Amino acid sequence: MTDHAISSPLPPQVVPRAEHGISRKDISPNALRVLYRLRDGGFNGYLVGGAVRDLLIGGHPKDFDVATDATPEQVKSLFRNCRLIGRRFRLAHVVYGREIIEVATFRANSADDTDDRETGDDGRLLRDNVYGSIEDDAVRRDFTANALYYTVDDFSVRDYVGGYDDVRNRVLRLIGDPIERYREDPVRMLRAARLSAKLDFAIAPEAAEPIPEMADLLSAAPPARLFDECLKMFLAGHAEKSFTKLEELGLLPALFPETAKALATNRSGALRAMVLQALRNTDARIAADKPVTPAFLFAALLWPAYCRELAVLQKQGVDPTVAQQRAADRVTLHQAQRIALPRRFSLPMQEIWLLQPRFGQRIRKRVFRLLAHPRFRAAFDFLELRAGAAPELAEDLAFWREAQAQAPEVLAERLVPKSPRRGEGSADDAGEPGEPGEEGDDAGRAPRRRRRRRRPRPGGDAAG
Ligand code: ATP
Ligand code: MG
Repeated sequence: MTDHAISSPLPPQVVPRAEHGISRKDISPNALRVLYRLRDGGFNGYLVGGAVRDLLIGGHPKDFDVATDATPEQVKSLFRNCRLIGRRFRLAHVVYGREIIEVATFRANSADDTDDRETGDDGRLLRDNVYGSIEDDAVRRDFTANALYYTVDDFSVRDYVGGYDDVRNRVLRLIGDPIERYREDPVRMLRAARLSAKLDFAIAPEAAEPIPEMADLLSAAPPARLFDECLKMFLAGHAEKSFTKLEELGLLPALFPETAKALATNRSGALRAMVLQALRNTDARIAADKPVTPAFLFAALLWPAYCRELAVLQKQGVDPTVAQQRAADRVTLHQAQRIALPRRFSLPMQEIWLLQPRFGQRIRKRVFRLLAHPRFRAAFDFLELRAGAAPELAEDLAFWREAQAQAPEVLAERLVPKSPRRGEGSADDAGEPGEPGEEGDDAGRAPRRRRRRRRPRPGGDAAG
């Protein structure tokens, strides 16, 4: 049990309707329904958290959370369309078609509640499931900007932690002692990075400063939770900024240890450029309402790690095909210790990697087989991404772009009918120049393909 620096809340500041600019027309009608029903039932209900924060800066909240002094059972009795979820801490979900309004009873986790609150030896919060007052509920939140309460009683915003001014100044400030709050829950460091990227808020110096030192604590966070956090960071429209924030705060090695190592040793910076381009593309797709998949995202985020692992194996003389599979497996396995990437994403991620060398092939049968591969499109998009940072891939890229557009007969004309079959020995290949080196993205240019191609290519392989 640690001492709590999060002492008592400030005297409440009530920001009246005339001042704060939140209008009911920007609030989900269902959230308003919940607030009114709670009030009519004799309870206090508030819009809280990210929604209030986003409304104050003129944003459009993606969900509306409600906090109340009603217990979950009392909430349930007020709504027919309500189900209770969660074992550790019961929450009420009020369901309106596809919209769910989450209603949470005020929670406390003050140092006094020793019965219901447990911390690990390292001060990490293991359990916190005590109900409390609105003030308790405010101070257990992470950032002051996330601890504002909007009420339909008088349409004011209640502020117990100075969050209103912080939102106006666009600052993320931890409630209480930052070191202690990070120790309790290291994921708050990621939330700082994510929210500062998403909202374009500065992180208060005292909240930013301890992060690099404490980043390693993230290795104790549950991998499933880190996966969820990753999706919020990288599949919500602000991936590139989230990534550079992670770098800035020294959090990258904690989340993606092998990628961080590979980026640090990649002198040309080509691998980093490729990752940033992938994230920029992801952001653009989300802005255009196009689908995105964690498989492609992680293929890009872990590509530097894969290239590095593959280079090591090839230097050891491992057969290229074996090396590719082994590198993919190793990177996936090591990364899984940090982030629980479900198999339905890690398998297609590996396929995207393993298909890369096949873009170097021009044998008729193989070309048609690759075109028909279920993962062709994703793998081709990945090739395009790599080509952005590796000009020597331009010819492959042009070939496959045309190949997709051409009639099969026309395409067949351009292709080599079968393998020239020379130099089968993989040991030769591994020793050839152009093997993936620490300079990075050569992994798609497996030596294998050099034996299969008939025409020497202008620009040459030697550069790899
Ligand atoms: P977003 O708009 O991205 O959803 P958010 O702030 O709403 O951001 P949520 O994960 O939805 O983030 O969390 C809702 C609220 O719960 C937060 O605003 C904050 O008040 C509180 N909260 C979330 N995570 C933590 C945490 N790790 N520690 C303390 N409070 C938290
Ligand atoms: Mg939210």
